[in-house]
Amino acid sequence: MSILSKECNQYLDQMPLVIYVDIDKTICTGPPESDPLNYLRALPYETRIEAINDLYDAGHAIVYWTARGTKSGINWYDETYKQLKEWGCKFHQLKMCKPVYDMFIDDKAFNDMEFFNDPAKLLAQMGYSPS
Ligand SMILES: [Mg+2]
Repeated sequence: MSILSKECNQYLDQMPLVIYVDIDKTICTGPPESDPLNYLRALPYETRIEAINDLYDAGHAIVYWTARGTKSGINWYDETYKQLKEWGCKFHQLKMCKPVYDMFIDDKAFNDMEFFNDPAKLLAQMGYSPS
């Protein structure tokens, strides 16, 4: 059964916020420069993972979205799913096929450094108050 099933998306609609989170260089190092396609060598940023897990625990939908394999055509889904679970990541969906881009201009996007510096402040800017 596809992870993109209609039932799953209906479930997401019931969450306070649907939060998309990049993986490489956002919640982990990404592969080493000497081995750029070996995502299994990425190392987790534990404090960032904890911050995302806190949002999951607060009832938000967490969707990890990655471009792993978008350019190469290699299917990294199973390895990535396993890796996220090994790192203790809490999430509702893992989506592949994120576009490859150099700049993302979006009214709802945050830079990773800005977001992880003070997640609560940025959630407030989005108009969301947890209480
Ligand atoms: Mg990335």
